[in-house]
Amino acid sequence: MAAFSFQGAKLMVTGEGGMLVTDNDKIYERAAFLGNQGRHETIPFKILELGYKYKMSNIQAALGLAQLERIDELVSKKRDIYSWYKKHLDGVKGVTLSAEMPWAKSIHWMTSMILEDSVKIERSEFTAKLKEKDIDTRPLFPPISSFDMFKKADNPNADFIGKRGINLPSALNLTKDNMFVKTFWQF
Ligand SMILES: *Cc1c(COP(=O)(O)O)cnc(C)c1O
Repeated sequence: MAAFSFQGAKLMVTGEGGMLVTDNDKIYERAAFLGNQGRHETIPFKILELGYKYKMSNIQAALGLAQLERIDELVSKKRDIYSWYKKHLDGVKGVTLSAEMPWAKSIHWMTSMILEDSVKIERSEFTAKLKEKDIDTRPLFPPISSFDMFKKADNPNADFIGKRGINLPSALNLTKDNMFVKTFWQF
């Protein structure tokens, strides 16, 4: 199975919504059943099990399909943005960029970096300095395991990335010229 989000900030958006894909018929049928309020297939309004309403409207689906037609262009732009950052930030001491594994092709939805511990400055101080240069960033996401209801084990790597990770400006309309990377990134 794989899950995709089409929430408004993503590469492909439908306002809200997403997609589950599977090559397993059983899982597909179970998911379709639960996503359709647990309804009986043929008897109208008969609910067999507590389900969910995960129906996407036709209008949303049309938006999504239109973007699917230009998905290669969207991914390609995101990969370009990543390559611009990589060109300037690769090898900069204290900065580790997100990396593509040899077995994967990343869409580089956001170019992310880690501010290594060797840089003796809080992440918030660092991003405030970027902000002074009109470079807007977002802290990386805290790991799900850091929330009380999911806490099960120590995840030091995820914790570290959650604390020291930064999402860099990665919007599709970003251009090489408004990235500022050349002037700022000196430690
Ligand atoms: C997109 C995203 C979500 C939310 O996805 P939904 O489709 O809104 O459920 C949660 N966490 C991260 C890190 C995301 O990128």
